[in-house]
Amino acid sequence: MASQQSMNSNSSSMSKSRSRSGSMPQLLCYHNDIAPIRVVKHDGPTRGKRFYGCSHWPRTCGFFKWADESDEVRELQFKLFEKDTEIAELELENSLLQEKVKELKQTNLKNRDQLEEILLENSVTREGMYTATADKKLYVFLLMSWVFFSVVYMFQK
Ligand SMILES: [Zn+2]
Repeated sequence: MASQQSMNSNSSSMSKSRSRSGSMPQLLCYHNDIAPIRVVKHDGPTRGKRFYGCSHWPRTCGFFKWADESDEVRELQFKLFEKDTEIAELELENSLLQEKVKELKQTNLKNRDQLEEILLENSVTREGMYTATADKKLYVFLLMSWVFFSVVYMFQK
């Protein structure tokens, strides 16, 4: 019973320390002492930022590390990963689009062939039509010349 209780308290304290170290890990300075977390108090872009420093300040060993940096780096890495995924997706989309463009170009080429065929056919029919109108004109010309000839012949009589 007693051992069980101690085990329980042990595990609970272990999990507690683990969760605390997960959010804010404890670091040692070059003195091998626990580096306390301090907050930047002077004005500037880093104001309010937490950092690890030497506990023997002002006789510091020069240890310095941003406390929030690891989180920021992790966040940036995650963002980068997200961007990479986005880029990969875009590249996939791009390749798909390129394939589609290729397909469309092929269809376009086929269509152009068909169009050329149609145009060829059209020009052939137009040529036929042209010959038909030329025949008509010739026929009218012959008729007119015949009428003219007959009129001249009648006046000569
Ligand atoms: Zn130190």
